[in-house]
Amino acid sequence: MSLKENLEDVRINIKNTCDRIGRDYNEVTLIAVSKTKPLTMLEEIYECQMLDFGENKVQELKEKEAILPKDICWHMIGHLQKNKVKYIAEFVSYIHSVESLSLAEVINKEGIKANKIINILIEVNIAQEESKFGLNPKDTEAFIKTISKFSNIKVCGLMTVAPYVSDPEENRIHFKNLKHLLVDINNKNLDNINMHVLSMGMSNDYRIAIEEGATMVRVGTDIFGERNYKL
Ligand SMILES: *Cc1c(COP(=O)(O)O)cnc(C)c1O
Repeated sequence: MSLKENLEDVRINIKNTCDRIGRDYNEVTLIAVSKTKPLTMLEEIYECQMLDFGENKVQELKEKEAILPKDICWHMIGHLQKNKVKYIAEFVSYIHSVESLSLAEVINKEGIKANKIINILIEVNIAQEESKFGLNPKDTEAFIKTISKFSNIKVCGLMTVAPYVSDPEENRIHFKNLKHLLVDINNKNLDNINMHVLSMGMSNDYRIAIEEGATMVRVGTDIFGERNYKL
């Protein structure tokens, strides 16, 4: 199958899932996760009105952004080192992986320098896996309260990387829990906090994530094929 057919399939799956549960499919943004993939592949699906791309390495993100059309929205979805924020602050649309106060401080500082409010999502380790980045769910509200006073970041919502499972149904409970956490925190009516974004669901489980309220799904393999990290 061609990239365009893969993309069309994913879009149809999103539309069908939304139709089935009575959600407006315009509420769900598909992010094409293009890490490790060459520019020609990104260009090919850009031609199909794909404007949201996700990358997990600063260097790669920066290089691709410099060459590809300027109307693309770039999503930083991977673990972000503080000393590299400055390379992406000016153009990044969302940083999905904020999980420490020191990182939030640096993003805020770079936002001030760039004269821009930077959209961020808080990464939550919703399944509390040993090996994963992200805040413990019970620490998330206090963390958001602390960073809500920063002038140049906007906390837009929550993000999670769900466990790797063979049956995606197993992740439904985690997606449900992330949604609950977002609603709970919104209900506290904290100053400057009104979150709308739930970034959850990957190739294996994006349909379930949408059923549980995802507003951004991050799909790599189902669009671009398997990644080869040895290249
Ligand atoms: C790689 C990656 C994805 C995409 O994963 P696929 O299984 O290829 O769809 C989504 N989110 C994050 C944070 C990733 O690093």
